[in-house]
Amino acid sequence: MHNSAKVVLPLVVSLVLSACVTGGTSPDILSGWGSFSGVDGRSRNDAHSGLDIGGRDGTPILAATDATLHKVRGSKTRAEGCGLGIALFHPALNRWTVYCHLSRSIVKDMPIKRGQVIGYMGTSGRSIDIPHVHFEVVSDGKSHRSGDLKNTEDPANLIVGCYDRNRTYSDTQLSYPVPCEDKVFKK
Ligand SMILES: [Zn+2]
Repeated sequence: MHNSAKVVLPLVVSLVLSACVTGGTSPDILSGWGSFSGVDGRSRNDAHSGLDIGGRDGTPILAATDATLHKVRGSKTRAEGCGLGIALFHPALNRWTVYCHLSRSIVKDMPIKRGQVIGYMGTSGRSIDIPHVHFEVVSDGKSHRSGDLKNTEDPANLIVGCYDRNRTYSDTQLSYPVPCEDKVFKK
């Protein structure tokens, strides 16, 4: 029993590790749009207004499609819902994307290209200390981190995969706002 566990466990670990390095068709989704389950698996009081994507603290946050900067808002304090957040406007979509709980913003007020690093993942705002980006698609330019779904939509309906610099996208298609190992994810 003990011996077989010693053999199987490292095998499982190495399989998981190799899957992380070579595979991974989407980032780690911790909580979907409309979900009543939080990033830690506990129940939420309100339906979730965005997509929570987990990663390491400091994971680059990528623009989901071509954009202009709408605003950088909030602070790193834990009390505020979104914390340090960025809102981008996408003229082709006539929508905004919002990125919350960042540790740092490096976005400049200039045309922003899909896949451009705009900041870094962190735990600012009400992230319950689990590094993730709360990603929203909204039609009013505001963060709805507080649980109001009006003027929000499920980002998963617009996301076509991980950002791939060699892929051709239409301006109305979004890519995940974090890098993924596998660049050929097909929805
Ligand atoms: Zn969230």
